[in-house]
Amino acid sequence: MSDIEIARQAIKKPIAQVAQRLDIPEDALEPYGRDKAKLDADFIKSLGGRKPGKLILVTAINPTKAGEGKTTTTIGLGDALNRLGKKTAIALREPSLGPCFGQKGGATGGGKAQVVPMADINLHFTGDFHAITTAHNLLAAMLDNHIYWGNALGIDSRRVFWPRVLDMNDRALRDTVVSLGGVANGFPRQGRFDITTASEVMAILCLARDLDDLEKRLARIVVAETRDGTAVTAGDLKAASAMAAVLKDAIKPNLVQTLENNPVLIHGGPFANIAHGCNSVIATRTALALADYVVTEAGFGADLGAEKFLDIKCRQAGLTPGLAVVVATVRALKLHGGADDKTLDKEDVAALLRGLPNLLRHVENLGKYGLPVLVAINRFQTDSEAELKAIEDKCTAAGAKAYLCEHWAKGGAGAEALAKAVVETLDKGQSHFKPIYADDLPLTAKIETIAKEIYRAGNVAFAEPAKRRLKALEAAGHGSLPVCIAKTQYSFAADPSMRGAPTGHTLPIREVRLSAGAGFVVAMAGEILSMPGLPRVPAAERIGLTADGEVDGIF
Ligand code: ADP
Ligand code: MG
Repeated sequence: MSDIEIARQAIKKPIAQVAQRLDIPEDALEPYGRDKAKLDADFIKSLGGRKPGKLILVTAINPTKAGEGKTTTTIGLGDALNRLGKKTAIALREPSLGPCFGQKGGATGGGKAQVVPMADINLHFTGDFHAITTAHNLLAAMLDNHIYWGNALGIDSRRVFWPRVLDMNDRALRDTVVSLGGVANGFPRQGRFDITTASEVMAILCLARDLDDLEKRLARIVVAETRDGTAVTAGDLKAASAMAAVLKDAIKPNLVQTLENNPVLIHGGPFANIAHGCNSVIATRTALALADYVVTEAGFGADLGAEKFLDIKCRQAGLTPGLAVVVATVRALKLHGGADDKTLDKEDVAALLRGLPNLLRHVENLGKYGLPVLVAINRFQTDSEAELKAIEDKCTAAGAKAYLCEHWAKGGAGAEALAKAVVETLDKGQSHFKPIYADDLPLTAKIETIAKEIYRAGNVAFAEPAKRRLKALEAAGHGSLPVCIAKTQYSFAADPSMRGAPTGHTLPIREVRLSAGAGFVVAMAGEILSMPGLPRVPAAERIGLTADGEVDGIF
């Protein structure tokens, strides 16, 4: 059965009953239909003084075509903890429409470890991404309008950084020219569209503490420069209040349930390359206030997702994770070991052993943050006993215990061994979490620290414009911000073809951007697309409605 067929058969509970599991009163819910609800802002505020539960980060090896199953494992672990009688909430990102219609499919887990209503969550959900798109484009419209009506701020139209956004994979919009067509349409200039997940407004919504903090951060967004290089902000354009108004509901976390009726907060969805790649601080904090255990996921592999979760999100929000779970699959490790993607169904212990250093390095890296680390082997039907045993043995030898997880096939029951180990490890209280670099380290040194400690690069090659920009940002007082490196997710290196565990490579930093509202400096390592395209045969060709009007074809 496909994921969506399993999801359609779910026996859902009314959302108020799911809320009860976390002692959320009915009047704190703002229902969107029968099986989705937003949490009321005053209720969230009232949770302020509560002692937080324990935070579990689920991350993974570098992604491959074979799929790793971070979201599926996050859900399976959450269900398993609930089965053990632990009051547990899951905190996930919202899916983006672009990849849903492209190659990746949905982002609500798979098999018996899913979140429902699957089709709704993957298509529009409660409209948060549309609100973010609108707030972002409102700022773009006000910027061009400001130039049109006399440009009192002296914006240099060659130095406009603020693109427009759309929640769609549409390569036709990567480079655009706006304001063509004559005097009435403004001054022509080059522009571009990014996908909504890449918008700084998305990152801001995900890092803001509350509505007030949201508006302050929006005002700090740098949209352009004047001819003499002075920054022009959303605040200068008087756009921040209207943007915050557009986002007043989008900032509230969304409550849904797993197939096993356990509570899940799904909220926010920034990219893990040019942004920090995790769900919102508001949702994570709310979940921690309501539950004893919170399982959350960070995007891509641990070199991008976990690094940013720990160095950006946890640092900014003052969160202390209790442990990390690294998800790996036999199939993906074989690809890291150079196996052919057409023969992954066949046993190949040699390729697996060659690929294992990728997993072991992520485990070692997470140890550098002071976190206990467990490995989750997300079992596929084609995995052989010898392959599974090889992972377990190598992990044990490296000091990280690996647990075979069968939540995809069996639901929460299939991840109980991992859940028990998670509880035991957390009870020992061995987390001594600290970020990998200090706030006061210069920006250049922060980039070098991540490159050497996490990516294991030999050196960093800063292009001249990047060097100049870093210097200017230090001079303008942004030196204490964390850095967000935009790198390919497929390798530790900037070259996606370097599988496994490469060392001594060069990390090229081509360009540096300021996300002043989000509160980080983006360093571009190589060519990173902020507007993906659709594959030759997009998933959209298979998506449609059944005779009963139910959505079909999302996988
Ligand atoms: P990630 O969060 O790492 O991107 P997901 O959890 O979204 O990955 O899973 C990606 C896809 O792989 C989903 O369609 C899911 O159904 C499938 N998948 C995950 N785990 C398994 C498994 N153990 N066996 C078969 N398919 C799986
Ligand atoms: Mg995922």
